[in-house]
Amino acid sequence: MTVRVRFAPSPTGMFHVGGARSALQNWIYAKQQGGVFVLRIEDTDAARNKPEWTEGILSALDWIGISRGSYEGPYFQSENAGEHRAAAARLYESGRAYYCDCTREDVQARTGSQYQGYDGYHRDRGLGPGPGHALRFRTPDEGATVVVDLIRGEPTFENKLIEDFVIARGDGSPVFLLANVVDDMTMGITHVIRAEEHLPNTPKQQLLWDALGVKPPVWAHVPVVVNEKRQKLSKRRDKVALEAYREEGYLAGAMRNYLMLLGWAPSGDREIVPWSVIEDEFRLDEVNPSPAFFDEKKLRAFNGEYIRALPVAEFVDACQPWLTGTGTIAPPPWQPEEFDADAFAAVAPLAQTRIAVLSEIVSNVDFLFLASPLIDEAAWTKTMKDGSAELLDDAVAAFEALESWDAESLKSTLEAVGAERGLKLGKTQAPVRVAVTGRTVGLPLFESLEVLGRERTLTRMRAARLRLV
Ligand code: GLU
Repeated sequence: MTVRVRFAPSPTGMFHVGGARSALQNWIYAKQQGGVFVLRIEDTDAARNKPEWTEGILSALDWIGISRGSYEGPYFQSENAGEHRAAAARLYESGRAYYCDCTREDVQARTGSQYQGYDGYHRDRGLGPGPGHALRFRTPDEGATVVVDLIRGEPTFENKLIEDFVIARGDGSPVFLLANVVDDMTMGITHVIRAEEHLPNTPKQQLLWDALGVKPPVWAHVPVVVNEKRQKLSKRRDKVALEAYREEGYLAGAMRNYLMLLGWAPSGDREIVPWSVIEDEFRLDEVNPSPAFFDEKKLRAFNGEYIRALPVAEFVDACQPWLTGTGTIAPPPWQPEEFDADAFAAVAPLAQTRIAVLSEIVSNVDFLFLASPLIDEAAWTKTMKDGSAELLDDAVAAFEALESWDAESLKSTLEAVGAERGLKLGKTQAPVRVAVTGRTVGLPLFESLEVLGRERTLTRMRAARLRLV
């Protein structure tokens, strides 16, 4: 039997990191089993679907290594609507489903005001199809439904506690629960690997498989992803869109490595490992069923390590979207013609060891390309104290006299200016840094001044000096 897994996102919003995690787990499982990964876009919720969300899913998957053309699909659930209806009709004809026209109020009037479920009133009343008649599945009165789950063992659900649930609405349209089963059936899916939040639906879905006469798949419900307060990650509260991380400058390699650690870890004391190791070592049945904490701080640290591990030339390439403002990434504060690729290449190795996400490159190098630096006023006020004006005067004079404009000479020269005042280098360089870059933190100062050049450095120091009059 060929293993066939599917990833079945609904295109109703930005693609969620939890979805990306499930997609990767499906992807690796298929690969390990010599199986097939199917992508199905569950687009039957017409009110909430948008084609751009579908495009976002495809490009996000592509980004994390599930590239277009290397899987089966995408299929679209809406294209299978005929099969969904046919399955509903078969269930009705075989007596496994029946029509019902009860409103919630009808049920509550019969059973007590708070009752949310259904009391089976129409089970044997022989109501036929018609407008406003919903089709309900007749759940067994006895026995239990055992869900064979690679991660959770065998969760068992008493059938008598499962109400006769709706499979097609009053307008005849099949509900998602049924459509999802019929699609998995039509597509020959053998393993359903999906988020834990679908577990409550699973006994109902398994009953539908049984009723339609097909052996149900093996299930694997992967843990819910939570924030630091142990709340399920939500798009209203948390940063969940894969695209947002991408725009911030997370590397795909770091992201997918981190996502695979949600509920699982490679052997040894390692967390940062090559993708090939994850593909070898990942075991779906070793995934921890408990909620998995999505730790953004840890992901950031991870990303920093991935950035530092890049060859410099690749780092330079990876920064390009932020240096130019590509696609949805905001343009940098400088004009394209102000950018100097050689100057950037000169400071890139310094920046590479300092940033955790690629978008941070912009604030680290903007002083090199802007005609005058963007002054952070709070940094200015904090740094420019009594004596800063004189210090800048002396530093300008000393720098003007330099024969060689290189980092080492700049450093020893400024050190000497500070020493005359009994100041350590840190204190001496702070006003110079703010004058030249506009900030109190950034790349190593003297290398920065070397790349910026004599003329521009001195102009900025003089301008800052004037502001201090
Ligand atoms: N379309 C569902 C979702 O995005 C997935 C259902 C499933 O995987 O079975 O949550």
